[in-house]
Amino acid sequence: MERIGIYGGTFNPPHIGHLQAAKQAVRALGLSKLLLVPAYAPPHKAVLPEHSPTARQRLEMLRIAAAGCPQIAVSDMELRREGISYSCETVKAMKAQFPGAELVLLMGTDMFLSFDTWMHPEEIVKNASLGVFYRGDKGEQPAIAKKKAEMEAQGVTVYLVRNEVIPISSTQMRRLLAFRCAGEFLPEGVLDYIRENRLYDTRAAWKNLPMEALEPIVISLLNPNRVRHVLGCRDTAVALAKRWSADVNDAARAGILHDITKAIDGPLQLTLCDAYGKLLDDFSKRYPRTLHALTGSMVAQRIFGENENVVSAIEFHTTGRANMSLLEKIIYVADYMEPNRDFPGVEQLRELAFTDLDAALKLGLEMTLEHLKEQGAEVSPASRDALAWLNR
Ligand code: FE
Ligand code: FE
Repeated sequence: MERIGIYGGTFNPPHIGHLQAAKQAVRALGLSKLLLVPAYAPPHKAVLPEHSPTARQRLEMLRIAAAGCPQIAVSDMELRREGISYSCETVKAMKAQFPGAELVLLMGTDMFLSFDTWMHPEEIVKNASLGVFYRGDKGEQPAIAKKKAEMEAQGVTVYLVRNEVIPISSTQMRRLLAFRCAGEFLPEGVLDYIRENRLYDTRAAWKNLPMEALEPIVISLLNPNRVRHVLGCRDTAVALAKRWSADVNDAARAGILHDITKAIDGPLQLTLCDAYGKLLDDFSKRYPRTLHALTGSMVAQRIFGENENVVSAIEFHTTGRANMSLLEKIIYVADYMEPNRDFPGVEQLRELAFTDLDAALKLGLEMTLEHLKEQGAEVSPASRDALAWLNR
């Protein structure tokens, strides 16, 4: 029997992860055809992020992405239907179109594990088998095996498709696009299309924006749970700048921008460094999570056109260094003590920051070192230098 794969999603934007998963499904399941079906409006996230491309533009990007793959085609079925795109309706319509074929509805593990919460799951499995992309993480294996057994007991065929592709979400992709380093994750031609059509802010002029314009952009690039921290850091940096006669505007900008790349996953931090031509020291390679300070400073400089003062304050906000500038000290301390921080000793730090900035900085560094020691983690050489310099 002919076997046809159905792979739905918002594809906002389509990236190489989607394409490689599709190819793996074709190979692993011996599909004669795989249909990529962009959702008009996905049920799980009924609203796409602001400034998303239109449904037609997402369809067009998918067509470009799939152009070189003979077994992969793009279906505009859900776009023509409009409204919320329910898989049960799509599968039913596909069954009518290909009555003699076995349909395989492809999905990620999260979707598979929550399959019962979909609209009419019983309708779906009447018309299709399920294909589940899994990464082979030890943690998820028992849950998947259990769910598969459950479904099979109900007579549903479940195929597991090993997916070796690096996990990258569309949200991450959109951030990489904003930071102008998404190229290597996009199928050929897609980046050109994105640029030509000015999608995802790839042509936005973000240099030297006034604070009112800068803030909403920064907030749109952060994880929502980090926004309060960043605003708190901005306010604290401004207060400290006033106290210690630093440039208040620079302090506000460094405060709001200091964690601008924090939402980028560890391995993708390395991608950012590559894209910006930055060579890394051994410590950074071992601890890619600490890289957000460096990558944040590069984004502040190249994407937002910030001055050297702001850029270096962002670069050293997690580690400090020897010979820190006034603004570097302020951002380091503000990051540590902003109003949302709560840990033993924070009150003392808050007091010191307004009476003796160097003492506050020293206390912050010492607490960090203590914390790293407890965790058995390495201390960055820059932090050691900073402490030696303060103790000189
Ligand atoms: Fe940070
Ligand atoms: Fe921070």
